[in-house]
Amino acid sequence: MSPRIGVFGGTFDPIHQAHLRMAAAFADELALERVLLIPAGQPYHRARGARASPEQRLEMVRLAIAGDPRLQADDREIRRGRPAYTVETLRELRGELGQDAELWFLMGGDSLATLDSWKDWTQLFQLANLAVAMRPGFDWQTLPAEVRREWQARQVHDFSNRTASGTIRSLALPPLDLSATRLRARLASGQTAEGLIDPAVLAYIRQQRLYQ
Ligand code: ATP
Repeated sequence: MSPRIGVFGGTFDPIHQAHLRMAAAFADELALERVLLIPAGQPYHRARGARASPEQRLEMVRLAIAGDPRLQADDREIRRGRPAYTVETLRELRGELGQDAELWFLMGGDSLATLDSWKDWTQLFQLANLAVAMRPGFDWQTLPAEVRREWQARQVHDFSNRTASGTIRSLALPPLDLSATRLRARLASGQTAEGLIDPAVLAYIRQQRLYQ
């Protein structure tokens, strides 16, 4: 059987329970051997800069996934030292894993809604399959027309015919209303984030005095 590898890219500023729940559901639902969590080096999908350094975001990912052997932190985008495009990362992984590997890229519904602004976004489907985790408020009918077309044409609901790339599947996982932006605001105002962030990550945030 070909290897089945998941890729989960994000700013992870900080990594939170919705991310972890998504990564685990991703591995479970798609029977993945491994899920690579790849923190963005210099995110440019957002106007305001990240609050934690790339190294701190990577360390938080490492701490958060320590309990699940299927999840692995991958520092390639941080090592690149310049903004890294997802399409480049997937091309690199495809080169390493070979043409037969089943490659899955995971994103939230909000990211899908802006997919047409990503560099060479239509090439993503030649490189990987796409898994989408619903986020509260997601409505596929409001997707940009070109993304909606891909969503309709590529969606599969059963797995009798798994392919190395090219399909879209939404996770069955119920949406969870949680974002890093809201968590940073909570932490900055001195509120607790217990239960929303992994305890080891929370201890690291306190120790490093992040998001104050
Ligand atoms: P921010 O609030 O800083 O934008 P975020 O919480 O969206 O951060 P990111 O690191 O930007 O976290 O997200 C990485 C990926 O995880 C993105 O594809 C995003 O859509 C997805 N994601 C994050 N939180 C959720 C959630 N609650 N439900 C579904 N997808 C999510």
